[in-house]
Amino acid sequence: MLEALSKAFAEVTALRGALAKLRVEDVEEEVSQCANCHEYFHPKMNGENSCQYHPGMMKFYSCRSCGADPYYVCCMKCSDCCKGCRIQRHVC
Ligand SMILES: [Zn+2]
Ligand SMILES: [Zn+2]
Ligand SMILES: [Zn+2]
Repeated sequence: MLEALSKAFAEVTALRGALAKLRVEDVEEEVSQCANCHEYFHPKMNGENSCQYHPGMMKFYSCRSCGADPYYVCCMKCSDCCKGCRIQRHVC
């Protein structure tokens, strides 16, 4: 009787583990990280204006707009003045 009970308990524990693993895999499959802005996004939520980023390299000189450093070479502005000078869909 006790043996059957512990066996049932072990089965439930195994099932719970499989269920938790399944949920993690589902999330990993649906959410991607954008190669441009490095934000995590859902493919179904990826619109034409979802991704805002700077295509240029970051340089450690003063921003042309506010004087802060560093700035991006694509638009000569820092990330405070401009979140991104290019707006498009997220890329994975
Ligand atoms: Zn993006
Ligand atoms: Zn820029
Ligand atoms: Zn700035």
